Amino acid sequence: MGPGWRSLVLACHAAVVAEFPEYELLAVKQKWAVLAFQAFPRPWRPGGDWTLAEAARLGELVSEFSGRSETVCERCGAVGRLRESRPVELTLCDACESAVGVDGRF
Ligand SMILES: [Zn+2]
Repeated sequence: MGPGWRSLVLACHAAVVAEFPEYELLAVKQKWAVLAFQAFPRPWRPGGDWTLAEAARLGELVSEFSGRSETVCERCGAVGRLRESRPVELTLCDACESAVGVDGRF
């Protein structure tokens, strides 16, 4: 993911670690123009090591930040919106929409 979401990711980590201090981070990336913060409530073990309620709660925490990323430019952190002008969908502000090429690279 781009640098514009850095503070969003840090805030997401803070929210998750407050309730799941041992959580296992799997990946942080952009998927379909929104933040994907993939984690388990605690380190994975065969059979899992958490309840469905814990997994749902973690999903609830993370989805708030994924939702917020829909209006934050992934490149610079300014107010952004979904851009569908390239093969890859991105959330960008007006300035970054003009600056980023068709390949979607920052
Ligand atoms: Zn921007």
